[in-house]
Amino acid sequence: MSSPPQVAVIGGGYAGFAAAVTLARGGARVSLFESSRTLGGRARVVETDGYRIDNGQHILLGAYAETLRMLRLVGVKPRSLLTRRLALVYPGLCALRAAPLPAPLHLALGLLRARGLSWTDKRAMARLMGQLKGQAYRIDPDRSVATLLAESNQTDTLNRLIWEPLCIAALNTPVGDASAQVFANVLRDSLAAAASASDLLIPRVDLSELFPVPASRWLAMRGHQVRTAEPVKSISWLESGYTLEGDPWQTLFEHVVIATAPYHVAPLVGALPAMEPVVRCIAGLRHEPIVTTWLAFDGPLPFPEPMIGLTGGYGQWAFDRSALGGPEGLVSVVISARGAHQDVQKDALEIALMSELQAALGPLPPLKWSRTITEKRATFACTPGVIRPDTSTPEPGIWLAGDYVASPYPATLEAAVTSGVTAARRILKRCGLKESPLLLD
Ligand SMILES: Cc1cc2nc3c(=O)[nH]c(=O)nc-3n(C[C@H](O)[C@H](O)[C@H](O)COP(=O)(O)OP(=O)(O)OC[C@H]3O[C@@H](n4cnc5c(N)ncnc54)[C@H](O)[C@@H]3O)c2cc1C
Repeated sequence: MSSPPQVAVIGGGYAGFAAAVTLARGGARVSLFESSRTLGGRARVVETDGYRIDNGQHILLGAYAETLRMLRLVGVKPRSLLTRRLALVYPGLCALRAAPLPAPLHLALGLLRARGLSWTDKRAMARLMGQLKGQAYRIDPDRSVATLLAESNQTDTLNRLIWEPLCIAALNTPVGDASAQVFANVLRDSLAAAASASDLLIPRVDLSELFPVPASRWLAMRGHQVRTAEPVKSISWLESGYTLEGDPWQTLFEHVVIATAPYHVAPLVGALPAMEPVVRCIAGLRHEPIVTTWLAFDGPLPFPEPMIGLTGGYGQWAFDRSALGGPEGLVSVVISARGAHQDVQKDALEIALMSELQAALGPLPPLKWSRTITEKRATFACTPGVIRPDTSTPEPGIWLAGDYVASPYPATLEAAVTSGVTAARRILKRCGLKESPLLLD
């Protein structure tokens, strides 16, 4: 029997671990290198002043089939995610809740019963969903979400309370720049799919603990290597395999999955001239920020839902972390994509967000602690016609994984996981191996 192929995975985010677990299930020997001491990359825990928070508040959707499969595979308990039927609630202003019915009645009834939307709004929303379905969710030629909304006469209220917040949350790109095709793909696979696909899944554990840490344990228990605080500086070809500068063992790898953020790829492949077109393609991507402000109050807050919408200020969504396994009074507020908030100092932003919370929820208990985390390059900007590199590269043993790799979806955990699984499966196929069909293998 020939010995199993040695495969390196560079990057311990969701894409890297999805690749590593899939490779291990196919019989490869995996070494994963992560430059940080903390696993998770752009979805990781941050320990600060006695609080365990995340670098950014995340939500998952019921439609994240590959992510949920991966969580099950590495033994993550279902209670690690709070599952809620879709509810877009702006306290005192608007509430659209999916009904407990099979699709499409869950949304149809939810829309009929929605508070704060007029009949004109409801008709316009049904019209756009019907129109998208009628054209099989194909937008040809691709254009901006703002153009799509204008073409189908969406109302100001719908744009402000439903479409723009959904687009920014899903694509992390302002509607004027966001790809209508990718937005339509998201609507097709969430709102227009089975009722459970539109469920909101909110982590009750930190983002490192949700997948990267259990995946790392799963790999270690099967004899694979997970090396933290070990940055790879570059990849070289050495006669019959690739070596990594930074690997103390100087292992010869048959395949390497680069599962870093896009802006970390170029230095890794500088010694591999065939990778030049890939580097050029990646250099064409623009990036958008996400800000998460964490506020700890000295007492509970009257959230009607664990997640509420904010409008008219800087904040977009606020989360009651006490309903999600966190301490009483802990709140996270998310601001996705670029915008006016970037011109405001952190202290002033936190004060503004508190008054927005107060306007939505009523008087707040005293503030005990706050922290604002800005991820300047949170995701690539998902614009019409954006060119994303493929999993396979011109260098036969080098593969890309990550939320920016070609996919019908925007940069999300699901895109990251799916890309990792795809890279791993292509390697296994190349090696004549197959993933084990057993869930717990
Ligand atoms: C603030 C914020 C909020 C978000 N909200 C959501 C959300 O609500 N829902 C959702 O689905 N998605 C959300 N996303 C997007 C999601 O977090 C990303 O799509 C996903 O985490 C990307 O995973 P990845 O594995 O592709 O890349 P990364 O997470 O960037 O992982 C790459 C890893 O590679 C490591 N690395 C880099 N260079 C090297 C090197 N040379 N050697 C070794 N290791 C290296 C990095 O340290 C990192 O750990 C959000 C992102 C941010 C930043």
